[in-house]
Amino acid sequence: MQTGFFLTTAGVRHKTNKMNKLKIAIQKSGRLSESSQKLLQECGIRFSNGTGSLRSAATNFPVEVLFLRDDDIPQYVEQGVADIGILGENMVLEKNKDVDLLERLGFARCRLSLAVKKEDSYPGISFFNNSKIATSYPRLLSEFLNKNGLKAEIEEISGSVEIAPGIGLADAICDIVSSGSTLLTNGLREVETLLTSEAVIIGNRNLPPSSKEIIEKLLFRIRSVKSASENKYILLNAPEKSIDRICSILPGMKSPTILPLAEKGWCSLHSVVREDEFWERIDQLKAAGAEGILVIPIEKMIR
Ligand code: ATP
Ligand code: MG
Repeated sequence: MQTGFFLTTAGVRHKTNKMNKLKIAIQKSGRLSESSQKLLQECGIRFSNGTGSLRSAATNFPVEVLFLRDDDIPQYVEQGVADIGILGENMVLEKNKDVDLLERLGFARCRLSLAVKKEDSYPGISFFNNSKIATSYPRLLSEFLNKNGLKAEIEEISGSVEIAPGIGLADAICDIVSSGSTLLTNGLREVETLLTSEAVIIGNRNLPPSSKEIIEKLLFRIRSVKSASENKYILLNAPEKSIDRICSILPGMKSPTILPLAEKGWCSLHSVVREDEFWERIDQLKAAGAEGILVIPIEKMIR
């Protein structure tokens, strides 16, 4: 295989080879690793899952998957060691590297919050003045403190942050929360939200056109998987006289498919409904005379 280098306008040195595989960084093990691998697999990309090995070339798509710690992904993408990366937006913002946000993925939704001991009274953000706060997000926390004119000591720790107040290491913590159950288990109470986050794809700013082409193909597949998971296929039976009303409730991708039933005066109607509007639509459909409603998951949705 021939290898070489080219320099981009920003002077970044990119290694090239004839195969020109796109390098995708994902988390090796942790909360994002399974869903990142699942997303790529749902896009039809086959690769072995990195147990032991830290890189794996896909067998049926021009990509190589690199398994890394999520903290390192922004830097590697900035440097071009990886071309794109899948990680939490929280980590992208914390690391503040020179990368492009290519796509929001809608999973690993969480927030970065401040929490205090359950038994402490909380008068408002002035609580944090002259306090000590444990966090793995020193940059975002100090930005929040500065913005609010607060002076606090930041104790940077890399994991198990929730334990810090209980063992006397800090007065409060600034950490990722989703359901809040970990906080509760550790005797903590969420009091301020700094930001909300979800998994995203970031990309290097100086990619050659050949890599951009592969990214576009991948993003097209990702969007199809994403819209499939955000929508449901719906089939129902309805009297012909209700069709107009039902069609106005179910706009579908273009317009609903309507097929006659063996029973005179009745038809079957097929369409697509958004997952987040689903229950509301079902109630409206029943009120409009729909019967025998079937709701089926969609595997891919190509627009
Ligand atoms: P690494 O060993 O790769 O550094 P880590 O321990 O720092 O991993 P994880 O706890 O696996 O990181 O979290 C990875 C990302 O998953 C977080 O940055 C965040 O975006 C998301 N995440 C973390 N906790 C939750 C949660 N409770 N719910 C949803 N998403 C979460
Ligand atoms: Mg990490």
